[in-house]
Amino acid sequence: MSVVLETRGLTKSFGGIVAVNDVSFQLHKGELLALIGPNGAGKSTCFNMLMGQLKPTRGSVFLMGDDITGKSPREIWRRGVGRTFQITATYASMTVIENVQMALISHNRQVFKALPFAHRMHRDRAMDLLAMVGMEGQAERHCAVLAYGDLKRLELAIALAHEPTLLLMDEPTAGMAPRERIALMQLTADIVRDRGVSVLFTEHDMDVVFAHAHRIMVLNRGELIADGSVEQIRNDPRVQEVYLGG
Ligand code: ADP
Ligand code: MG
Repeated sequence: MSVVLETRGLTKSFGGIVAVNDVSFQLHKGELLALIGPNGAGKSTCFNMLMGQLKPTRGSVFLMGDDITGKSPREIWRRGVGRTFQITATYASMTVIENVQMALISHNRQVFKALPFAHRMHRDRAMDLLAMVGMEGQAERHCAVLAYGDLKRLELAIALAHEPTLLLMDEPTAGMAPRERIALMQLTADIVRDRGVSVLFTEHDMDVVFAHAHRIMVLNRGELIADGSVEQIRNDPRVQEVYLGG
């Protein structure tokens, strides 16, 4: 199995706090990998280092074998790392399909000139992407009126417009109702299966994680304390201890 992402000894300190401590892992092609752990465990700090938002104090990040440690968010994005945001990042005044068209224009490094012109650009591809997330029926709606769950699905379509090799999703289901949460993760799992994209995600709801993740890593106080299959993690006494606070 080819390695898409690898970290070696990834560490981040904020003053005296070691938020992420010596974390090493690999993510393989087509894998849906969950990073779990209690609040403050260091998950977002990990994501921010992978996306170039934070520079590691120590350690390295490799993407498809290339050292990308300390590279800018823009450069890491350019190399095929997509992300969905904890806070949705769509243009409220534009329609659903225009948001996807904008993402395609940006992906193709075209210059966005004027909306009437943009209207015709990448329409078919944008519709395909909307169909992929089950939103083809809402193409002409304005984002401002979308339900939260639909905004999250649109965000996924926007991320896919970039044809990422790797998608980083830090709490993609935050703020969603349980049913919507399951639906979004099911959708993500389908996309991983059908498109060979690799995904690293965080999620609070253990039922969602156990139902969809291919593999699970557990972070506690900045340290990776377990890395294994759903069954292994479910039965790992260290993980139970962390979650039951025992
Ligand atoms: P998680 O996403 O798992 O909840 P975080 O990565 O957000 O955890 O936080 C890990 C630890 O690092 C926490 O103790 C948090 O307070 C601290 N931390 C995160 N970001 C910063 C920052 N910019 N400055 C100082 N401390 C931070
Ligand atoms: Mg977080």
